Amino acid sequence: MDERLDLLPCGYFVLTSDWEFVEMNKTMRDVLRLDKMPRHMHDVLTVPSKVYFQTYFVPSISVHQEIREMYLNFKVDKRPLPVLMNVSKRNGLYEGIVVQIKVRDEYENQLLKSKKEAEQIQQQTDEAYNKLLGLLEEVEYKQQQLLELNEELQELATRDELTGLYNRRLFRRSLDAAIDRATLFKTRSFSLLLFDIDHFKTVNDTYGHQVGDDVLRELARKLEHKVYSPDLVARIGGEEFAVLFDDPDHQKNCVRAEELRCHIEKSEWNSIAITVSMGITSFQEGDQSRHIYGRADEAQYTSKRHGRNCLTHI
Ligand code: GH3
Ligand code: MG
Ligand code: MG
Repeated sequence: MDERLDLLPCGYFVLTSDWEFVEMNKTMRDVLRLDKMPRHMHDVLTVPSKVYFQTYFVPSISVHQEIREMYLNFKVDKRPLPVLMNVSKRNGLYEGIVVQIKVRDEYENQLLKSKKEAEQIQQQTDEAYNKLLGLLEEVEYKQQQLLELNEELQELATRDELTGLYNRRLFRRSLDAAIDRATLFKTRSFSLLLFDIDHFKTVNDTYGHQVGDDVLRELARKLEHKVYSPDLVARIGGEEFAVLFDDPDHQKNCVRAEELRCHIEKSEWNSIAITVSMGITSFQEGDQSRHIYGRADEAQYTSKRHGRNCLTHI
């Protein structure tokens, strides 16, 4: 073979129509790592490439007379070597060249590997994102629970344990708020009623502390039926209660206080019938809580001094 053809930078060969080699340059023998020219095309192909050669190359070339860039694997030292092959039919023979594509193949494999890794990372990201969404939902749910618990706690902190009425703390805050409002707006006056159960010690001493508790609870229920928003009733001490009447009409509030006293005196009692001594006063300009509270307290003690079970206004 012509030396220039022998040392071409690609493999060169000629095949018969039975796919037997007629010629092969040195470059191709070097690619195949063979000293001698092999006999048949099948001798240099891997098994899958042999199948491909028979099912695709053979029928295709008989139709088109040539094949361009066919991808095959040569078997070199028992390992596949990827090549691209161009073959043309000329004068009843088949002339072809081959170029190794080992580098490109490795590059493609690398690309494939990178793609797979990227897909895996994407999947992991998706999973982490979904997990995060789940956690966020859980956090939202927990926050909601916390809000509800806080509301419950706030409610508990404002209630008296025994009777369920508002406690002294809430009463104090409400009284301050009513004073602020009445100080700002002259039309928003209000009345404060304080009352205390008469001879309650005797109830305890005679019937026991448990019955005393029942009386307190029963009184609370009666008060709740008669006093409701925007008025407010609270248990501010052992057997002491307070009502904030929201109405600016003090006379009206006095009538309602007296009705309340009568109701306590006359209504049916499951436990022990009791009476209360009451003191009522209205907001006066410049009042602070100790002033208005002091007047109502004084009025209540006046009722005690006057024989109990009555209402005093100051
Ligand atoms: P007065 O008419 O002067 O108010 O007489 P009183 O007996 O009601 O007054 P006193 O202050 O002497 O007694 C109040 C009693 O209330 C004493 C106390 O044991 C009772 N008491 C306070 N808190 C409770 C409670 O939560 N449960 C019960 N069962 N008794 C209570
Ligand atoms: Mg008392
Ligand atoms: Mg009392």
